[in-house]
Amino acid sequence: MAALGLIVMSNDWNRRHVLSLADFTPSEYDVVLQTANSFREVLSRRTKKVPTLQGQVVTNLFFEPSTRTRSSFELAAKRLSADILNFAPGSSSLTKGETILDTAKTYLAMGTDMMVIRHKEAGVPQAIAQEMDRLGVKVGILNAGDGQHEHPSQALLDLFTITTLLQPEAPRLKLLEGKKIAIVGDILHSRVARSNIWSLTASGAEVHLAGPPTLLPKLFADFVTAPKIGAVVPAATPAPRRLLLHWSLEPALEAADFVMTLRLQRERMTNHLLPTLREYHQQFGITRDRLKLCNPDVRVLHPGPVNRGVEISSDLMDDPQFSLISQQVTSGVAVRMALLFLMGGGKV
Ligand code: ASP
Repeated sequence: MAALGLIVMSNDWNRRHVLSLADFTPSEYDVVLQTANSFREVLSRRTKKVPTLQGQVVTNLFFEPSTRTRSSFELAAKRLSADILNFAPGSSSLTKGETILDTAKTYLAMGTDMMVIRHKEAGVPQAIAQEMDRLGVKVGILNAGDGQHEHPSQALLDLFTITTLLQPEAPRLKLLEGKKIAIVGDILHSRVARSNIWSLTASGAEVHLAGPPTLLPKLFADFVTAPKIGAVVPAATPAPRRLLLHWSLEPALEAADFVMTLRLQRERMTNHLLPTLREYHQQFGITRDRLKLCNPDVRVLHPGPVNRGVEISSDLMDDPQFSLISQQVTSGVAVRMALLFLMGGGKV
């Protein structure tokens, strides 16, 4: 790895699994950002592949649809020279009644070293990680999105996108200290919002949540301070996390440095939580005009997939002056390479 100019101190990364960002420490964020930046350099070369994970097996277990995350993990594993298995639930033995744990154990028996897991129920990657630990096997579990709970690799790639924009040579968490970041839209159903709240508030940024009351319940005010089941929030978080709630867009956008807009997760909405999409766009849609309230250098993020013209206007989405959407997708490969590399032992 010396060829990459990458030095990972063994005590900076001791995690076997990446399940949540609730207990990530500032130095863990920085290790991911620095490692991803080294891989960004690899990805700019003519030969975009390193032998780091040669002989290791990465299994993608996606029980819920995905375009970006699944392909991005697959490409990341390939760029690290790992062997990758892709599980497709529709054509698997799940349809014959096999349990999720037994599916995971089947891949374990084939020699899987890391499993990347997405499921519509919160807690599935955690349950598989617990089972692997109980069995005493050294398999790393990566949460690629569990229900409404968390999507750590998405928040890490968002962090990488923003911090490399601020300082391309040396991205680090503290670059966001004092910045204002608005997260707008369907917070209630968004695992992306939850993971981003952990990372962005850890950086010292001021995080403003905005959405209609049905999609931004008051209980989010206590999100970062409420005790988390099974997670130890690091005592060493230097300053109190700053999280503010708004049920209208304007106060969140005023002087914002970054605006993160979220998809309306209609597949998770059980009731009629919204009037019409047109009304939603009128109240919370991000448009060029509304960005005038922000800092003049404001940039807009969206984790995708986007409902064009609903959460963000179509022209703004494609405007490279404001939109970081395609950079987010590009960053995803480097960040996922970093995670697989670190979880795979961080050694050549
Ligand atoms: N792709 C992200 C996720 O899986 C965001 C979204 O679906 O809206 O959570």
